[in-house]
Order: sequence, then structure tokens, then C-alpha cells
Amino acid sequence: MSELAIFDGPKAVQSDPGDAFNRFPSEVKEEIKEAVLDVLDEWSMSGINITKEFEQKFADWHGKEYGLGFNNGTSAVRAAMFAAGIGKEDEIICPSITFWASCLQVYSLRGNVVFCDIEPDTLCLDPEDVERKITDRTKAIMVVHYAGMPADMDAIMDIAKRHDIKVIEDVSHSHGALYKGQMVGTFGDVSAFSLMSGKSFATGEGGVLITDNREIYERAMAFGLYARHRGNFENDYIKEGLGLPWGGFKNRMHQMSSAVALVQLDYYPEQIEKIEKSMNFFWDQLEGLPGLGDHRRPEEGYTKGGWYAARGLYRPEELEGLSITRLCQAVRAEGVSTSPGVNKALHLHPIFNSIDVYNEGEPTAIANAAEDIRTPEGSLPVSEGIQERTFSIPLFYNYRPEVIKEYAKAFRKVVENYKELLDDDPGNPDTLGGWSTFFRE
Ligand SMILES: *Cc1c(COP(=O)(O)O)cnc(C)c1O
Repeated sequence: MSELAIFDGPKAVQSDPGDAFNRFPSEVKEEIKEAVLDVLDEWSMSGINITKEFEQKFADWHGKEYGLGFNNGTSAVRAAMFAAGIGKEDEIICPSITFWASCLQVYSLRGNVVFCDIEPDTLCLDPEDVERKITDRTKAIMVVHYAGMPADMDAIMDIAKRHDIKVIEDVSHSHGALYKGQMVGTFGDVSAFSLMSGKSFATGEGGVLITDNREIYERAMAFGLYARHRGNFENDYIKEGLGLPWGGFKNRMHQMSSAVALVQLDYYPEQIEKIEKSMNFFWDQLEGLPGLGDHRRPEEGYTKGGWYAARGLYRPEELEGLSITRLCQAVRAEGVSTSPGVNKALHLHPIFNSIDVYNEGEPTAIANAAEDIRTPEGSLPVSEGIQERTFSIPLFYNYRPEVIKEYAKAFRKVVENYKELLDDDPGNPDTLGGWSTFFRE
């Protein structure tokens, strides 16, 4: 009889996970609830006092001068783009493997996005390809620290310096992660974070931006935070236009969100330490197995914050070509939720190729561009093949070694018996990847 649960063997996961997957202990949950109820009691949902307190504390945590809260991460990224000076026909370089809100907003600023490839091991933007994509219209590099992994900031900052372009960090996947001992989000000119419910640092809908640059800070307020226009502004050209939001947007953070954020900030550093310990323990159980690779950097000084959207790397060639689809089916049968892929490659989506968003008689990717900088199918090989080479792994919030061992055993068992799976391998569908499972109705 087979050992594999998919062929009716005993499941690898037998025990109740207890609190291994619990984001917060119940005391913290209670504290969060109280903070939210206070906002309701005071009817200060649209106020800015709690948000300001959160902004300062969040900026301080990063050793940055300024912080600004937003209604979501999408708005924070757009404000960062505007503040960094992106305008008509300007280009930002962004990896194709990321959530759309790292770049799509640039169209509304009349700018353009040029997609670059990713590195197969870090899943972050490939500095060499970034450099190849630079033109004299490049204004900024949009760095995404993908699925908790810090991008190669030494190489990126060097490119930015040599070409005199800005660096914007999208830290939505990696709150609190370290690159060579330094927090991500502290390298570039400006950084933006999503704080939506699924993220590691989560407030419900919310976003935040940090910077040391006074002009960037003031421009970000000018764009979509008109309630802040009564503050002190130092830049004369900005002072002249205050009172109404320059972007025509109202992006204020809801104070129920900032109240949640403030409480969470007290616990987050301790929380990510527990996650880091648990996830490293998980990977240590799988060391040396063929086919599976960890999504970590081996050197000292790197951490992955809350390990958002934790992923593993898959090398089918080490398992006679067994598809990731089949591998995941077998692991799920063992009692572990896993699925293939990461975000779908953005450069292949019609919105970045053929859609005329603003009724200009041509695709927006052309209308906004001084020249055609689209990246057709076949131009970003790593991004295009990455769905077949990645899979999701469980995210342990608490260090419970016995539980973690059982979950790791599910993967180990499947890999050790992979030959049994080859016969019925359905192969991979071309719809692999994407985030669809998150938004279950
Ligand atoms: C979630 C996310 C955003 C957008 O944040 P929202 O809060 O959902 O608007 C931006 N960039 C990345 C990489 C994200 O994952």
C-alpha cells in the first residue's frame, strides 16, 4: 500500500494545529477591539489625530522623518509616484511579478510602466534587467520586496545613483524585513506600504508612506490629503495650490484603521520574530530534498518580516518533470493547504498592451508613451515561467515545532514518493497562479 494520502495512505497532518496559525493572542485582539470602539465612541472616524500618531510612530520605527497614512496601499503607492515627480510620458521600471497596485496607477498620472524580469531565486526584480530597461525618460525604479524577500538594494541603489533616478519601494509584502541588517523601506527616496487585512501588518483597508524628503512629503499631502493642507509647508510652489487636492482624490485613512495600526505596532516586532523562527524551522525540516527550494537568502542579516504570501521554489527537473499541480494535489491530500504559483505576470495583461482606458483612440500604453515600451510575450522569460516553479506554504504565526514538523512532513513524504505520482500527472493548466483563492465569496 502507498504511504501517500492521495492513494489512501495515512495523512501526514494528524494533530490539531492549536494556535500555530493564530495571528494574535486573544488579549491583543481585545485591545484592538477597544481601540476601534473608542473611535466610534468619539465619532472620530474621519479625524486625523489618531492617524497622525500612527504615522509618526511608523516613521520612527523605520528611522524616517515623515509618515503619511492613506485609505489603502494603492493610494499610498500612487501618492509616492506623484511625489517622486512622475508625470506625462515618464517611465517607471517595475517587476512583472507583483500585485497590479505596484504600478498600474501610473497611467492615471499620464506616465508609463516598463516591466522588467525577476530573479528566479529571490522572485524580486533583476537588477541587470532593470538597467537594460532604462531610457532617458526613466524617472523611478519601483522596487517590490516580493513575498517578504528583500530585493537586491545594493545593486538597485547603485543603478539609481549612476542614472540619477528615484527609487520607490513598495513594501506591501515585507513590513519589517531586513536587508543586510537594514529595514526594507528605508533605502529609497520614498516607500509605500499596504495595510489591508491579508498583509502581515494589517489594519483592514489602509496604507502608509514614509520618506526623509520634505518635498516628497509635501507633494504626497498635496495630492490626495487636503485635510492636511493647513499644516506647515516649506515649498512655495506647493503653498500656492493648497486647499484642494491636486490629484482630485480624497485618500484619507479611516481612523478605525489607524487605531488598529497603532495597537498592532506595539506587537508587530515580536510577532515577526516568532514568524521568522517558525518559518526557518519549517524550511530546516526540508533541507536537502530534491525538487524543493526555500525562498530565503542564505547570508546573515536577512529576514522576511511577516513572510507574507510565503512561497517555496520548485525545480521539476529534479523530480523527472513532475508538475507543480500534481505535487500540490498530493500535498493537499496530506492535510496541508498549498497551491501553485505567484501573482500572474502583469506584462501579459491586456491593460498593459491593448486597452484604451481613457478613450484616446489607442491603447493607454501607447497614448502615455513617447515610444512603444511594451514587453510582448516571450520578453520576460523568468516571469513567464515562474508559475510552474513556485508554490504556497503554510504561514506559522507561532513557534509550535511539533505542528510545524507534521506540515513539513507532508511535503517531505510527497517528494520522497514522487515516482508514484508521475503516471497520473495532469500537467499544469495555463491558468496557473494569481491570488483568486484569497477572495472567496
Ligand atoms: C496589496 C498590495 C498593494 C496595494 O495595497 P491595497 O492596500 O490593497 O490597496 C500594492 N502593492 C503590493 C505589492 C501589494 O501586495
